[in-house]
Amino acid sequence: MTMAVSNPHYTESLRKLMDAFGRLPGVGSRSAERIAFHLLKSSREEALELSDAIRAVKDQVRHCSICFNLTEGDPCSICADGSRDHGIICVVEQPKDLLQLESTGVYKGVYHVLLGRIAPLENLTPSELTIPQLLERVKPAAEGGGSAAPVKEIIFATNPTMEGDGTALYLQQEIAKIAPGVTITRLARGLPAGAQIEYSNKAILADAISGRTKA
Ligand SMILES: [Zn+2]
Repeated sequence: MTMAVSNPHYTESLRKLMDAFGRLPGVGSRSAERIAFHLLKSSREEALELSDAIRAVKDQVRHCSICFNLTEGDPCSICADGSRDHGIICVVEQPKDLLQLESTGVYKGVYHVLLGRIAPLENLTPSELTIPQLLERVKPAAEGGGSAAPVKEIIFATNPTMEGDGTALYLQQEIAKIAPGVTITRLARGLPAGAQIEYSNKAILADAISGRTKA
C-alpha cells in the first residue's frame, strides 16, 4: 500500500484525506496529493458533493435479497422483471460481471452473484459466499426451494481462472446432489483462459453466452 507523500507541514486532516485517497485502487501517493489539493481549492459545495455521493452509495446501495446484485430497491430490477426467464440462473462472481453480461443484451434469464470465488488460501469458503442461498434457489419447490420458477438451467459464468473453474466444479457437484434434473452449462470457451469477465469484449461475451456448452 502506498501512503500519501508525508510532508510534515500538512495538517492532520489533509494528511488523513490523502491517506484515504491513497488507499483507493489505482491511486498512488502523488495522485492522492493532487486530488486532496484539488478538493481544497474547490468550492465547499463541489467538495461536499463527493462526500454526499459516498454517503448515498453506502446508505442506499445494497445487495438484492434474491440474486445479490447491487440495487437500491429490493428485489433488484432484474429479479422483479416478469418478462425474464426465472428458470435460467446465470452464476457470476461479482456484480461487475453481471453488468458486463447484461451489456451484451443477449441474456434473458436471471442471475446469482456469488460475491467472490472459492479461494481456500484466502479463507474464502463456500459459506463466505452466497453459495448456500444459490442452493436454496435451485432446490425443487417440493423440497422447500425458494425460486420464483422451477430452475431448469444454471449457467456458470465464473471467470475462466483456476479459482473460478474450481468454484464452478464445486457448485456443479452440489447442484447435482440436490437437483439432478437441472441442466448445467458453462460459457463457451471463446474467453481466453485467465480472462476476467468484467474486462471482456462484449461481442466475445455475447458469443460465449449464446454458444454455452453443457458442463
Ligand atoms: Zn436480484
